[in-house]
Amino acid sequence: MSRSGVSAGTPEGGRADVLVVGGGPAGSTVAWSLVQRGLDVVVLDRCPFPRDKVCAGWITPAVVELLHLDLEDYGAERVLQPIHGFRVGVMGREVATGVEERPLSYGIRRCEFDAYLLARSGARASLGEEVRTIERRGETWLVNGRWRAPWLVGAGGHACPVARWLNPDEARGRLVVGAQEIEPALSDEQLAATRVDGRVPLLSFCPDLAGYGWVFRKGRYLNVGLGREGARALRPHVDRYVGSLAARGEIPPDLTARFRGHAYLLYSHPPRRVAASGVVLAGDAAGLAHPRSGEGIRPAVESALLAADTIGGRAADVESRYAARLVARFGPRRPPAALGWLPPAARAGLGRALLASGWFNRRVVVDRWFLQRDAGATRGSRGRAVPPSPR
Ligand SMILES: Cc1cc2nc3c(=O)[nH]c(=O)nc-3n(C[C@H](O)[C@H](O)[C@H](O)COP(=O)(O)OP(=O)(O)OC[C@H]3O[C@@H](n4cnc5c(N)ncnc54)[C@H](O)[C@@H]3O)c2cc1C
Repeated sequence: MSRSGVSAGTPEGGRADVLVVGGGPAGSTVAWSLVQRGLDVVVLDRCPFPRDKVCAGWITPAVVELLHLDLEDYGAERVLQPIHGFRVGVMGREVATGVEERPLSYGIRRCEFDAYLLARSGARASLGEEVRTIERRGETWLVNGRWRAPWLVGAGGHACPVARWLNPDEARGRLVVGAQEIEPALSDEQLAATRVDGRVPLLSFCPDLAGYGWVFRKGRYLNVGLGREGARALRPHVDRYVGSLAARGEIPPDLTARFRGHAYLLYSHPPRRVAASGVVLAGDAAGLAHPRSGEGIRPAVESALLAADTIGGRAADVESRYAARLVARFGPRRPPAALGWLPPAARAGLGRALLASGWFNRRVVVDRWFLQRDAGATRGSRGRAVPPSPR
């Protein structure tokens, strides 16, 4: 056990102020925020770090700001790909949205990003320790029979054991987003055979608009993937997309990496219970990914900061306080409304027509859906800064 956040699991367990299950962006951010306030935090993760995470690794400027990321420090020894524009449209008909001088976003590798944030959090960490049992004993949580604390944070992603503890009756087979990707390191020959520029990634909507594919080049690494609402029969869509990319010369034809996938909930999907006395969920565990873009890192970080704010008050009314904060930040949960009044076929037809427009792709798809430039950045609806600035 160490304060660096990169220790292996230890046999003895012990007491803490807060136990955090999961060391991804949500878990490390809640830990970072609470350690700044002087709390003793232990993060438990089933994986030794650095660990890989299936993710395109696109972070928006809001994430950099919320985390007070020092990009120079971060990029000194890690992949940090500035993104200055996009090519967006229906598959095969993507159009450039223009290249800006200032970066619009960044590409990171999750194995590096998550390890950096966890180490920086200053929390104690028990890595390589899977959470198998959660018990409530009076006012205390007992995890794996050996860790005790008055507060528990569930940040273990979509299948978080704390989320399951809070939602024991959740139906299997519910609507989720399914996504698959690869992120191989390219050889010199493969780099030369890749048209996609690191500064201008490719975003390609499925013809039925139920999802989109992407190509992000980050230094030598090429991330190619596709996500769709409804995880079934995802693979044929992935294969078709990758085949068309290779045929068009966007990516090398000889990528051999194995696609890996993962499912998660959008904010517009039916909600989970996200808190109870002495326990809160953050990030994918709470089902917060953006309904249009699928962006999950920013909501993971924001909810983690809100969760950290909620901890410390009265444990009993935490559910209403935390739920109110989530609604103040992310709005009421409902399906995306745009064109909702149209029948699905007409909606897809109109959507395809709009996606042929450079103006629509720039102002609506990139600025509003993906970068959320109209979302008030780091402020909750009551005008209060999120988070309280860490020192
Ligand atoms: C293919 C794909 C591409 C994506 N691309 C992007 C993107 O480009 N940008 C973006 O913003 N979002 C993207 N997302 C979504 C994003 O990856 C997630 O929303 C984000 O990782 C959520 O962070 P988190 O901390 O909540 O969970 P996670 O990052 O999943 O972290 C959860 C942690 O909990 C640990 N854990 C799980 N179960 C247990 C257990 N029982 N005991 C102990 N530890 C446990 C795991 O090992 C893991 O380290 C993508 C998702 C997918 C599937």
